[in-house]
Amino acid sequence: MGDLDGSACESCGRAAVPAEPSCGACGGEVAPRAFTPEGTVMSVTRVRVPADGGPGPCALVVVQLAAGAQLMASAPEARFDDLAPGRRVRVVLSPIGLQVEPSA
Ligand SMILES: [Zn+2]
Repeated sequence: MGDLDGSACESCGRAAVPAEPSCGACGGEVAPRAFTPEGTVMSVTRVRVPADGGPGPCALVVVQLAAGAQLMASAPEARFDDLAPGRRVRVVLSPIGLQVEPSA
């Protein structure tokens, strides 16, 4: 399945998804890098009132990818109870942004 496009710092190694224009930790040069979309839920919160134009009520999830980058993604609110911290998940890029689904 599709890898996620991100970046890795050539100085300190910081990994980021989506890609950063320069390293958010040390300001160094970054190079494009693809990340396996498997990771672990670090935290999850319920969004009841979305921003203008944003997706409706949803779960907002911080995911630590196995390959090192940490990212924020969303999921349908109905999945909230399946996304407790520690759960293994897969991240996919959809037309409305990064989405999380429980891993098989
Ligand atoms: Zn860096």
